[in-house]
Amino acid sequence: MELYAVHYANEFKYADYRTIYHNDERTVLVPGFVFLYYVAKIGKQVVLFDTGFRSKETAKGFGTHLLDVEEEVLALTGGRADIIFITHEHFDHVENLELYQGAEIIVSKDAWKEIQKAYPRVTSQLMQTSKIQIVEDVFEVQGSFCFKVIGGHTKGSSVIYFREGEEKFVISGDETYLLDNFERQIPNGNVYSLEKNWEFIKQVHKEGIIPLPSHDSSVIEKYTRISQHIVRII
Ligand SMILES: [Zn+2]
Repeated sequence: MELYAVHYANEFKYADYRTIYHNDERTVLVPGFVFLYYVAKIGKQVVLFDTGFRSKETAKGFGTHLLDVEEEVLALTGGRADIIFITHEHFDHVENLELYQGAEIIVSKDAWKEIQKAYPRVTSQLMQTSKIQIVEDVFEVQGSFCFKVIGGHTKGSSVIYFREGEEKFVISGDETYLLDNFERQIPNGNVYSLEKNWEFIKQVHKEGIIPLPSHDSSVIEKYTRISQHIVRII
């Protein structure tokens, strides 16, 4: 398997310490907040972990600066996806779903409900063209990926576990925005269930799992760049 992170935007006006860390009341922005999603290639198969978003209007509303990644993503994926795992319903994780008609979509029951509410046109179209796999707890894909509903960040927020050799990884969505939360064992400041979020952080730490969050610039600094905005992790 090959695994990549796509860095498609920077900055978020709500990314202050209160949002990122539980029990931190500082109102200044936390440095290093970026927007990422992940792409795996297994033979000819393309697997997406969330989709990102591309609306300039949406970006403007959130104080976010979009990067010009379209051609790089096209070169990586061929503009298609076979499987898309959705970690949760927030715009930065789902808005580009409409570009991938025909993919198998794996999503929690509660996240899908919210996505349907926010994007009625796109979701009814996807229900015609794509297989929507609704998950209430755990769902295994091809014996390689384990999709698990955590319910910490949002009611239906989910993560995807997989192994590569001796190492175990988890695409952690926004259970925490940054790696620092795992390293220093601090829950997310923006949670639906603090208890479930905290349990997940502790489990990742205890089991030595490598987390891959959606908003940490150190992911793109740590791994080898294959093009301007894409790094290869595996
Ligand atoms: Zn996010």
